[in-house]
Amino acid sequence: MEQNIIKPFLRLSGLEPLVVRPETNFVNVGERTNVTGSKKFARLIKEGNYEEALSVARQQVEGGAQIIDVNMDDALLEGVSAMTTFLNLLQAEPDIAKIPVMIDSSKFEIIEAGLKCVQGKCIVNSISMKEGEAKFIEQAFVCKSYGASVIVMAFDEVGQADTEARKIEICHRAYKILTEQVGFAPQDIIFDPNIFAVATGIEEHNNYAVDFIEATREIKRLMPLTKVSGGVSNVSFSFRGNDHVREAIHSVFLYHAIKAGMDMGIVNAGALVIYDDIEPTLKQLCEDVILNKNNDDNGATEKLITFADTVKAKGKVEVKDEAWRNEPVEKRLAHSLVNGITDYIDADTEEARQKYPRPLEVIEGPLMDGMNIVGDLFGAGKMFLPQVVKSARVMKKAVAVLTPFIEEEKRNNPNAQQGGAAKILLATVKGDVHDIGKNIVGVVLGCNGYDIIDLGVMVPADKILTEAKKHNVDIIGLSGLITPSLDEMVHIGKEMKRQQLDIPLLIGGATTSRTHTAVKIAPEYDNGVIHVLDASRSVTVAGSLLSKEQKPGFLQAVKKEYDKIKEDFGKKKVIKNYLRFEEAQKNVFKVDWDKFTPVAPTFTGTKIFENYSLAEIAEYIDWQPFFIAWELHGKFPQILSDEKVGAEATKLYNDAKKLLQQIIDEKWLSAKGVVGFWPANKIAADTVDVKANSSTLKLEFLRQQIKKAEGQPNMSLADFIAPAEKNYQDHIGAFSVTIEGIEPHIKKFEVAHDDYNKITLQALADRLAEGFAELLHTRTRKELWGYAKDEHLSNEDLIAEKYLGIRPAPGYPACPDHTEKYKLFNLLGGKEATGITLTESLAMYPAASVCGWYFANPESKYFGVGKIEKDQVVNYAERKEMPIEEIERWLSPILEYA
Ligand code: SAH
Repeated sequence: MEQNIIKPFLRLSGLEPLVVRPETNFVNVGERTNVTGSKKFARLIKEGNYEEALSVARQQVEGGAQIIDVNMDDALLEGVSAMTTFLNLLQAEPDIAKIPVMIDSSKFEIIEAGLKCVQGKCIVNSISMKEGEAKFIEQAFVCKSYGASVIVMAFDEVGQADTEARKIEICHRAYKILTEQVGFAPQDIIFDPNIFAVATGIEEHNNYAVDFIEATREIKRLMPLTKVSGGVSNVSFSFRGNDHVREAIHSVFLYHAIKAGMDMGIVNAGALVIYDDIEPTLKQLCEDVILNKNNDDNGATEKLITFADTVKAKGKVEVKDEAWRNEPVEKRLAHSLVNGITDYIDADTEEARQKYPRPLEVIEGPLMDGMNIVGDLFGAGKMFLPQVVKSARVMKKAVAVLTPFIEEEKRNNPNAQQGGAAKILLATVKGDVHDIGKNIVGVVLGCNGYDIIDLGVMVPADKILTEAKKHNVDIIGLSGLITPSLDEMVHIGKEMKRQQLDIPLLIGGATTSRTHTAVKIAPEYDNGVIHVLDASRSVTVAGSLLSKEQKPGFLQAVKKEYDKIKEDFGKKKVIKNYLRFEEAQKNVFKVDWDKFTPVAPTFTGTKIFENYSLAEIAEYIDWQPFFIAWELHGKFPQILSDEKVGAEATKLYNDAKKLLQQIIDEKWLSAKGVVGFWPANKIAADTVDVKANSSTLKLEFLRQQIKKAEGQPNMSLADFIAPAEKNYQDHIGAFSVTIEGIEPHIKKFEVAHDDYNKITLQALADRLAEGFAELLHTRTRKELWGYAKDEHLSNEDLIAEKYLGIRPAPGYPACPDHTEKYKLFNLLGGKEATGITLTESLAMYPAASVCGWYFANPESKYFGVGKIEKDQVVNYAERKEMPIEEIERWLSPILEYA
């Protein structure tokens, strides 16, 4: 009865929680930080190059791993110390440490060393009864005492389980021991029932996939709270070198295994063609092999091997198949939608319109049926965002064909019942300008049949609420990218309560979080506040909110969860490992100024660059964030040949390059940049004095306040500027760049119902702005400031920041105070010179704009100020001559008060 307050889900955490709920999609475990699996990682660890080893971990997080597997099992390595060093360093990197760690070793001493390092709740991979029950129990106790969940490999004194019966027997036995003798919660137990290779030619191996799948089904039936995991690529091991066939095998295997209850796994080797897209012959052969059907005398295996050879010989079989054109119109519409084909959509829609009694029925019938397939495939991870947006383009074109007829019908018969699609209002809040994410959510929800009212960016609260009431919307969704937007969202929540609205409120965007939503926004509004992580999640949430049956239960569950988060947050003890601010100020980063002579720039004051060549800027583009904007995660250019997303990524890249060329050739956009340098010296611990014309200006830089390990400084950017008493005239620089002229082209794509090109254009403008910043920084180092005249770096080196000096951006971790941007823009000459306006939240408009300071000191580097305490804030407010409350508002995300 009472024990159900905390639902028995597998709850893991790094710095952020990962709750594996029944409805959670398949969980990916990143495997590259594994010395046995990655040559590169092994080399870096052996060389002691932990910094770069960490970047491997970071890439995985950026690549979408939800858990990171760390393995140091190598004969040439001292495993305990390698695990300890790596995990300790990893904990200091919030962008990596946010996801849970899977400590992977076959040596328990290494596991235990790892357990001592990780914060949060990790997974131990793995323990087993290989060496008997006593050892198993002992190790399980250790794991439990550290609060870890465990992977139990289906392995006992006799050996590794290969048959269904053995897998179930061993897992069940382990389960009883863990729950009855060790006191493990069932949801903390993850079974790895061993995935072995099929189609090896050895008859006994033919049933291995079936054994795994059926064992999984039975394990989940017998022990429903436990989880099942496995290494997927093993299953296709005998088709090494034939990725096309391997991908199909993985896809078919996962299709059945996930249905049977498999929850997580290492899936890097691909699995990731869309199940429904595998060519029928290959699919049938894979089904037979995986499910061990028609396989007497290895019949199915032989057939697949023969097929594989033909594929190998021909390369991928790619037949342009136009047979679908002979199908009935409903099927053709669905085909166009799923495949994003616009070629026939007008004619097919018209044909359907003539076939159906009313135009609206075409939308509600075949078109929605098609979009439902798209939604399902996307939800199941079988389709990717660019494909979905292309589907949406097809849908919108079809709707555009029907709209005049629907309007006409309305005119002729005002009482005819019209479609009652639920309405969702979306807006980026006041002071914030970014809307790529919001546009994507709008498209994805639109695909699911909702009527989207998008108010755009910088929308004040009263406009949002007035429009919501006017259109009688069913849901309001708010988006925000920069930190000040969080407060604005709280404000909107309060207003909704004051105006007694009963519309659920969705919160999303880069700066938002579940914790902030639960602690700060939800308490202000009683009729539903839900944080939505990404576009695909928004669909499920909207579905629950719009179903009369589900809504009350859903809201109640969310409220309960958020109340708990709020309660825990309130209870959370402030970690008292901060220095008094004066202490932090004494522990500065020491540059040896006697060994270093600052170089004077070639000019002081500013230089404006107008209509800079876009073609030249394009050379400096970093493409990786472009793919991230499209929710395709992975490193560029490798992503283009990635097993899972490569095909889609390549299509997207080709489309983007084409559009970019057109932008350049037809001069759609123009680039404007300003660079400035001024004499500067550090005149107090955290203050830099800048001499601009006749006036002087003081820049204030926050300092890290957390207590550091012995010998580690408490950094402030001010430390990189020579102190006045050294008698060096040092300098500081600043820049801003902006890409102008996007609006008419956005409009044009909107009119053409072409979200795909609209979003691509927005993302390209962002890329050009970042590329321009990179270009001007390069020119600054080599020529304008000239402190690194001999630099010769490739674009890759630039992206990897291999140059001397930095360009930290106000509002980013090393200088998190957005209000210093006022000084930066004043120095550069304001809107007049920069072409940029600052919104009330200090976002830059146009959205494709970048700014920052230039520090030339070769020792300067990026860091995060992290959380700070009240004494620093009081001091900072005094120095800035700003009211404390105002500073507190701007800095609220980094404040840690008792
Ligand atoms: N190649 C990337 C560059 C932008 S992100 C792209 O094209 O998108 C890197 C930039 O973010 C840096 O140049 C700097 O301006 C800013 N930045 C990164 N880390 C920072 C930190 N810790 N403090 C301040 N600014 C930082």
